[in-house]
Amino acid sequence: MVIGDLPVTDLAKMRNIGIVAHIDAGKTTLTERILYYTGKQHKMGEVDEGTATMDYLPEEKERGITITAAATTVYWKGHRINIVDTPGHVDFTAEVERSLRVMDGCVVVFCGVGGVEAQSETVWRQADRYGVPRLCFINKLDRIGSDFESAVDSIRERLTIEPLPVQLPLGRERSFRGIIDLISMRAFAFDEESLGKSFTESEIPCELSDDAQRAREALLEALAESSENFMEKYLHSSEVKSEDIRSAVRKVTLERRFTPTFCGSALRNKGVQMVLDAVCDYLPSPEDLKEVEGRHPERDRILKRKVSPDEHLTCLSFKVVADPHGDLTFLRIYSGHLRQGQQVYNPRARKSERIAHIYLMHADSRKAVAEAKAGEIVAVMGLKYTVTGDTLCEKAHQIVLEKMSFPEPVVTMAIEPRTTEERKKLLDSLERVSKEDPTFKHRIDQETGQTVVSGMGELHLEIIANRLLNEFHVEARVGKPQVAYRETIASAGEARAKFSRQIAGKQHYAALTLRLEPAQNQRIISVASLLAPGKLPPVCLSAAQEGIRNAAESGVEYGYPLINLKASIIGADYRHGESSEIAFHAVGSLALREAASKTRILLLEPQMRLEVHVPDENFGAVLEDLSTRKAQIESIGTVGKGLRVVRAIAPMSSMFGYATSLRSCTQGKAVYTMEPSGYAPVSQERIEMFRS
Ligand code: GDP
Repeated sequence: MVIGDLPVTDLAKMRNIGIVAHIDAGKTTLTERILYYTGKQHKMGEVDEGTATMDYLPEEKERGITITAAATTVYWKGHRINIVDTPGHVDFTAEVERSLRVMDGCVVVFCGVGGVEAQSETVWRQADRYGVPRLCFINKLDRIGSDFESAVDSIRERLTIEPLPVQLPLGRERSFRGIIDLISMRAFAFDEESLGKSFTESEIPCELSDDAQRAREALLEALAESSENFMEKYLHSSEVKSEDIRSAVRKVTLERRFTPTFCGSALRNKGVQMVLDAVCDYLPSPEDLKEVEGRHPERDRILKRKVSPDEHLTCLSFKVVADPHGDLTFLRIYSGHLRQGQQVYNPRARKSERIAHIYLMHADSRKAVAEAKAGEIVAVMGLKYTVTGDTLCEKAHQIVLEKMSFPEPVVTMAIEPRTTEERKKLLDSLERVSKEDPTFKHRIDQETGQTVVSGMGELHLEIIANRLLNEFHVEARVGKPQVAYRETIASAGEARAKFSRQIAGKQHYAALTLRLEPAQNQRIISVASLLAPGKLPPVCLSAAQEGIRNAAESGVEYGYPLINLKASIIGADYRHGESSEIAFHAVGSLALREAASKTRILLLEPQMRLEVHVPDENFGAVLEDLSTRKAQIESIGTVGKGLRVVRAIAPMSSMFGYATSLRSCTQGKAVYTMEPSGYAPVSQERIEMFRS
């Protein structure tokens, strides 16, 4: 029963879920069906015709892939379900990360022919990292070559949480008609005429009855093994009640011991409603989260807040969509209330901000609401300083939730406007894209004056270049993608620098002693002051720190940003009447260069973790290609019938154009995922080539 847009206020009846999948598994098609069956949308959108609702950027429609996570709210059987859509392509891993950070549960879609694919493993690992309970939906069971059982086996073999089939397919391939529910032991066949809206329930056909009985026994035994309470019921009653089975399935799902597994065909409109039922029955509500943990912004103290509207406000901004009429900020509210017109506090920016409007989102359309509360996902307008990852709270009750971490960009590219008049428009557009996408950066190269953009991969930058043209109407010339190298120091170094110069008839003086030490995983270098209190006026200290950070951004030997080091100001000389902010800013930069010159500078290159799934017959060609790319093979395994999986690490510089060459050496039969995996020093021999 669809209950329309009535607000569901009971926290236990709320679900914040994501639908995640390998690209092409059918996530967008499934989402479209969900919108249709829940009555959110009266016409079914089709990916293949470019009418899918959730893929709303023009670029997404053209490519038929989902890039930007859009949120939507649907209602199903008295529950309110907020769905956060996520992209399947690994170049957009940041989008997946931030969605997972705020969802309580997810539906993982698999292709019934391919089973677990490389990217399914990547998203699965991400969901593991955030401890998200999940359901599996084996899709495309209408396709020739599809096989529910082998898809389940591939999940069992390759993923961390055991699949728990709660359904079996009714028919296979072209004659796939619906599902057998192993809990009620009934068959459900979907009606084609009504686009699957109606279905008929019947006895399980005789020829499938033994299979169904066996599968049910396996289900009950698995539940009995994991729950003593259920074991009692299983052993002592002749017929276990359906509601007892459901509550045991819920328990093992929340504990992440099992993932209930469903079957269907999104495209042929079969099985989707049962997935919605399962979201309500088995996935957690915000209440199951119980409490959320953060820190006090100034005092180093862990704070815990109950997930309840009666607590103080705690929200996390997980996405910003820049808009000419004001930014739209997506918030997950963990505790408290949010009201239109309310002042909220951003501890990172140290600013109070006003919530001008609150919206429930449906892809790119929205519905204004006067208030929202704990558990909900909403979009708000009116925030000027809040970026992705910021916490919003009450000024009198401050808290900072753990920030999302995004990988550093691995690819850079020069971008120039076609005409000088377009320069400002280009910079404004890049500013907007950077605000929305924390893995996209832009800067002006101090030496060449060129605008340089950087991102997570070739496709990422290509899509942004196309967005500039089609959405922002900026004609830009783009250079070849290049590796986003970094620099670091091999050992500690220390130096004193002095700045003393006449500027506009006035003497400016400053001196600083700086110590640099290697430090792991420091993408933004920290600059500590070990000076005695009062040694420097605070404005001069901040100016020196900024000078150090700015210089680190431009690198010291090769022109790439310095990372993985810690800077400490250990001495300073201040002269009344002569010392100024300008002088301390300049001496900060000088001190960094001089201290770095006392150490050996290493050039670092991003390393990519790669996983290729390839049929046996193309395995040799793939290995040969990888060896010419200087990839180090970490493991080779088999998956399913006739399919190999190769895991390797390769330097970013040798991975350009990999998508094209893999396609040509396997006739498009292999798939791969690639994600950044730290940095490694570039060899001396390659540095020489680099210099010449
Ligand atoms: P996404 O990349 O995971 O969002 O996948 P899409 O929903 O865009 O689907 C990828 C392709 O698979 C499209 O051509 C869909 O029409 C097709 N597809 C999706 N679901 C099914 C299904 O159940 N059966 C079949 N045969 N094709 C499907």
